[in-house]
Amino acid sequence: MRIVFIGPPGAGKGTQCERLARHLNIPHLSTGDILRAAKAAGTEIGKLVAPIMDAGGLVSDELIIGVVRERIAEDDCAGGYLLDGFPRTLAQAEAWQAFLDESGSQLDHVLELRVPDEQLVKRLELRFSKLENPRADDQPEAIPNRLQVYHSETRPVVDFYGSQNGVLRVIDGTGSIEDVFSRILEAIGHSAA
Ligand code: AMP
Repeated sequence: MRIVFIGPPGAGKGTQCERLARHLNIPHLSTGDILRAAKAAGTEIGKLVAPIMDAGGLVSDELIIGVVRERIAEDDCAGGYLLDGFPRTLAQAEAWQAFLDESGSQLDHVLELRVPDEQLVKRLELRFSKLENPRADDQPEAIPNRLQVYHSETRPVVDFYGSQNGVLRVIDGTGSIEDVFSRILEAIGHSAA
């Protein structure tokens, strides 16, 4: 099963993605995690993306598309994957569609997790206050920029998938982790059992 998971920072996307990937037994590919690992390892890509990530901006479409294509080519993705954090711009969504068309495959579901901005700010501030080693982009100063980037860059991605035949499923991301996970399973036609 090929799934794209879209959601703003603070919406609990990472947690839900981990659970869903485990439930479906497919790899969870978080582009944020992949880039953070590259940064920590000090690779060429890591050095390139570090200042952009620290400021809460987006790395270039070309770079991220290359990173994802490389990762998807690995054996564990043969049976499907859960993409978390990609595509994040319309250009990425279009490039990914071209790649899927080329390889004769398609996405099964695009899940959009929706949480009102006021709740996101509260959750992100709470998360920051509890972190022992906050990342640069966890700092409260970076929150408005991350939300603004999400709205301006990612909304067109949701619209792009919304215009495709029944692939987009909008999920209410408010409430408990359990509630949200049940809604996700229901949206993709899987029972919680
Ligand atoms: P995340 O953990 O998904 O919030 O990603 C952390 C950071 O990695 C983002 O703030 C961006 O700087 C970068 N990043 C992750 N995914 C992408 C993407 N698809 N396009 C551009 N930048 C990305």
